[in-house]
Amino acid sequence: MSMTFSGQVALVTGGAAGIGRATALAFAAEGLRVVVSDVDATGGEGTVELIRSAGGEATFIRCDVTRDAEVKALMDGVVAAYGRLDYAFNNAGIEIEKGKLAEGSEAEFDAIMGVNVKGVWLCMKHEIPLLLAQGGGAIVNTASVAGLGAAPKMSIYAASKHAVIGLTKSAAIEYAKKKVRVNAVCPAVIDTDMFRRAYEADPKKAEFAAAMHPVGRVGKVEEIAAAVLYLCSDGASFTTGHSLAVDGGATAI
Ligand code: NAD
Repeated sequence: MSMTFSGQVALVTGGAAGIGRATALAFAAEGLRVVVSDVDATGGEGTVELIRSAGGEATFIRCDVTRDAEVKALMDGVVAAYGRLDYAFNNAGIEIEKGKLAEGSEAEFDAIMGVNVKGVWLCMKHEIPLLLAQGGGAIVNTASVAGLGAAPKMSIYAASKHAVIGLTKSAAIEYAKKKVRVNAVCPAVIDTDMFRRAYEADPKKAEFAAAMHPVGRVGKVEEIAAAVLYLCSDGASFTTGHSLAVDGGATAI
């Protein structure tokens, strides 16, 4: 895959693993300098190591996206490291529910909303001034197919991902004339640690997960990374406020 980018610096949150790691590697492979961020410093440094050993340039900055001061410090760190920010992939997210709505706890609600909604909001709040100051840029937020429809036994998660799409669309409209594009990517089930925690322990669930997708399999992290890079690239210059399902046909049924 080769795409054209007018910017040079990308930030990836949740970059220690899974979709975030694959996307950080993909940005670096296109020649961008990458700031990898996560609460998991070992995994984040591991992503940086992978980028450097492939000849790319990257820096790790630890940040809990639920903390305003840490997110502000992350953006200061991006500017200190590379002088600018062109693309932000707000991808850190969690899923911890195991039951139907009435079985959920207040702690689960606060934790999921904290990372998935407040985290994305705080990141955009501190990224947008940087993008505006240099005349534009692009943001991609990780939503989910659970942001486009129901997700039984994952109701808080579904609500959080619907909220990510609401934040994405609103920010896209607010900054459309300022050359800041804001889109969301909506993966179906992707083979990551999050997927393995939710499905792999039970072979029946894993089979069910594959069958949910008309293509007959779960997705690969590289398939989400490709969509994120497209949404950031100059090829997507007329695309903003969009929620792109990358789902093996799951939402077409
Ligand atoms: P993952 O668990 O492999 O990676 C998520 C990363 O986010 C981890 O490295 C974790 O340390 C980090 N993180 C968690 N809380 C954080 C916080 N407070 N601050 C900073 N970083 C934090 O999961 P993944 O599957 O790669 O998920 C990435 C994104 O994709 C999430 O937003 C998830 O909701 C979304 N998603 C995943 C799937 C899937 O099937 N795997 C499907 C749809 C959407």
